[in-house]
Amino acid sequence: MSQELRKKAIEIVSALDNCYPEAHQELNFSSAFELLIATILAAQCTDVRVNEVTATLFKKYSDPQSYVDADQTELEQDIRMISFYRNKTKGLKSACQMLVDDFGGAVPDNIDDLIKLSYVGRKTANIVLSNAMGIPAIGVDTHVLRLSNRFGWAASDNPDKVEAALCEILPKEKWHRANIVVQWHGRYTCKAKKPLCSECTVFDLCLWEGKQR
Ligand code: SF4
Repeated sequence: MSQELRKKAIEIVSALDNCYPEAHQELNFSSAFELLIATILAAQCTDVRVNEVTATLFKKYSDPQSYVDADQTELEQDIRMISFYRNKTKGLKSACQMLVDDFGGAVPDNIDDLIKLSYVGRKTANIVLSNAMGIPAIGVDTHVLRLSNRFGWAASDNPDKVEAALCEILPKEKWHRANIVVQWHGRYTCKAKKPLCSECTVFDLCLWEGKQR
């Protein structure tokens, strides 16, 4: 990893931070447990839709035991607006059962234990660690994966490899903010099909050969 690439990466993150000062984690939560639930629900679903559902869900189910005790059909109905709600109901109940059985009902504060939970992969685990616990981590979602390749920070479709590359290229203290602003840039400007390169604040720093003014 060259020093030049590292320097450019920091410049990109600073420029995006200036461009999106309001950027934040868009899933609503008030605890690590709530963010864990919201992130499981958010797979292949919009954050807006998840927030609509969790606004009432979090009032009804407040801890892992309440999901374990919930009637499966009733919980399915509670999250029916979410894509794959039947599978996700199973996922929530199973992850919560593990939290109760293996972790005393608390959300683990390390990735090795988090990814033992059903329906929790590295992306979900890192999002919880970074946003709810203040532990440096990078969650590689579809936006971060795409932009990391366009920026020249990584050359892989494998999220684990991209995560490792980002952790190497960016200083630890920037991981959280970089994660958020890169997600926002991907969501609002550097879109998958038609990136808005003519409006892009990091056009000159982007290494993607397909970029166009
Ligand atoms: S120049 Fe285009 S491809 Fe590069 S980061 Fe900006 S929007 Fe994305």
